[in-house]
Parts: sequence; C-alpha cells; structure tokens
Amino acid sequence: CGIVGYTGSQQATGVVLEGLRRLEYRGYDSAGIAVVADGALASTKRAGKLANLEKALNEAPMPSSTTGLGHTRWATHGPPTDRNAHPHLDASGRVAVIHNGIIENFAQLRSELEASGVSFASDTDTEVVSHLLASETAGGATLADAMRAVCRRLNGAFTLVAVDADTPDRVVAARRNSPLVVGLGDGENFLASDVSAFIAHTREAMEVGDGQVVEITPDEVVLTGFDGAPVKEHRYHVDWDA
Ligand code: GLU
Repeated sequence: CGIVGYTGSQQATGVVLEGLRRLEYRGYDSAGIAVVADGALASTKRAGKLANLEKALNEAPMPSSTTGLGHTRWATHGPPTDRNAHPHLDASGRVAVIHNGIIENFAQLRSELEASGVSFASDTDTEVVSHLLASETAGGATLADAMRAVCRRLNGAFTLVAVDADTPDRVVAARRNSPLVVGLGDGENFLASDVSAFIAHTREAMEVGDGQVVEITPDEVVLTGFDGAPVKEHRYHVDWDA
C-alpha cells in the first residue's frame, strides 16, 4: 500500500519510517523495513500498526545503514500476519522486495519455483519476486537487469522496490499500473508510492512511467523500459504543501 526507498547519507531507518508515517493515511494492516548493512540485509516486519514495528525496532534496532526500503501492506494474498508482511527475502537472504498490487500469475510462478526446490516463507503473491530476482542475480545479472527480466514475466499490476546485499548503495524499482515516483535529493535519492513520503527532504521529483524500471544511487538515477532501452526523463517540482 505505502512504499518508501532511500539511499544517501542519512540513516535509512529514520528516513523510511518517517516516510511510512506520512503514507499511513492510505490505510494498511502490516508494516516492515529492510536495510543493507555490512554486506548483509537486516529486516523487521510486523502485523498491525506502525507502532508495532517501531516497538520491535526499539527492542532490536536496525544496524546503521544509509540504504533501505519500507512498506505498509494492505493484504490481498495471505492474511495480515508477521510472516506475510513485506519485505520478502529470498532463501539466501541476499535480496529483499516490497510490493504494492497483485501478481496475477504468481501461482504458476510459485509452482515452477517449488518444482525447482525453492521453499516459500509466506502466503503472498509477492514472494515469487524475491526468489526470481535472486535467481537472476545469482546467475550474474545486476539487480536492475534482474528486475527488468522478472517484470517481463509478471502479469498484473505492481510497484516493486528491491535491494541486494551485494550492491549496498543501490535501490531498484519498477511499476506497471501502480504508482511510483522518484525524489531527487543532493547526494541522496528517494522512491515512494506518493511524493508526500519524501516532501520533507526534497520537492524535486522524477516520474517513473508505466512499464519502466528505475535504479537509484546517492548520486544517480537511471530510468529504462522493461526491455532495458533508455527512456526520456520527466523531472518536475512539487509545489503543493503536504
Ligand atoms: N499483494 C500483496 C500482498 O498481499 C501486496 C499488497 C499491497 O498492495 O499492499 O502482500
């Protein structure tokens, strides 16, 4: 339901939680966060209000990190439980994914993955994406290439945001018939389902078109189609008050 991604020089956990708070008005049933730290992913997720997640994070704080993502879920596939909350990690814990929308062909993809020996940790449609991305990156693809290849296999509407423990200052996202916008900062960049998530940090934004993948680092934003071809950027200034 609510999506936030960040890479820059601030502590990712604080930026992501603040962004999720600003998206709370949309309604949700669970919340979660993942950050990249010391070549690994750390993730915490809880059913219920953001306060439940914040309580868990007070008891077991996230490691220091400047790259992360967060999600508030409105369950469509699988009940609102801790294990079905996003992010969803692959079996090796190297790739984390958050998702808004519905992957219509997830059952078929899940059967194929299970037939090849992958075991699932949730009931969601989303989890197929983490395993598919990880199998692409294990084969040598960059996370952005992996995202493009996986999106070409997905039916349905989605906003996806992913991080990879092996590329710590990068966040990759994609969208089809579901909202996603980039916030352009100075030495930091943001991804969100709605500009209100990052408006306290920057009012410079970039559209992500339907059927596009975007990769952000602290200093760069690269936008392509699902086929990898570069696409024309459209930057704009957000001049309303959030
Ligand atoms: N279909 C996904 C799920 O049920 C994402 C739901 C959402 O948009 O929050 O977990």
